[in-house]
Amino acid sequence: MTPAVPPGRIEVITGPMFSGKSEELIRRMKRARIAKQRVICFKPDIDLRYHKTAIASHSAQTHDACVVANVDRLREALFAQIDEVEVIGIDEAQFFDESLLSLSLELVHLGKRVLIAGLDTTFAGDPFCPIPELMAVADEVEKLSAVCMRCGAPAIHTQRLGGSQELVVVGAAGMYEARCRAHFEPFADSEQLELPSVEALKG
Ligand code: ADP
Ligand code: MG
Repeated sequence: MTPAVPPGRIEVITGPMFSGKSEELIRRMKRARIAKQRVICFKPDIDLRYHKTAIASHSAQTHDACVVANVDRLREALFAQIDEVEVIGIDEAQFFDESLLSLSLELVHLGKRVLIAGLDTTFAGDPFCPIPELMAVADEVEKLSAVCMRCGAPAIHTQRLGGSQELVVVGAAGMYEARCRAHFEPFADSEQLELPSVEALKG
């Protein structure tokens, strides 16, 4: 039986910090707007580095975004206008919990195009839930690399810098840099620190 609504699409844009995930998300959303599709974008309120009402790339490109505390709030904001929305962009999706997976599947069955950008690994080099799970169910995955700040090779890792005791995890240039596999030192600076777990940050 043919579904009442044609299925949508889940696209995951992933890679380390500085790999161009936000740029690529912004590019896809701008193209959707040129195609006269109605677009809405979200980001978690943990990521307030540059803008409170927009997503931003390290190259200073921006796109308006709703800042939400968690997936439940995202769902409420989205479903208040679901009939008017065709394309849903989510940046820094690694800071949402695993319920983003079921929400994305629900949206794709409603015929929506879901664009998800987020880190695939933590600064320790481990898979960063829920991005790997979203990659598994996606129609398309684009895994980007950055440029290794040690040697210029393609970088798949996010290196945390400095030995600050502050529990700051969201940061940009100066606090993190892109590294290739050969130059990635997951515990070089942070071994002695009591860093918050990903679960604690999401909670
Ligand atoms: P992400 O969202 O993946 O963190 P952004 O889209 O915000 O990445 O930023 C990508 C931009 O960051 C690049 O176009 C470039 O201008 C800049 N940049 C700074 N450091 C690097 C690096 N080490 N490798 C690649 N791009 C870098
Ligand atoms: Mg980004």
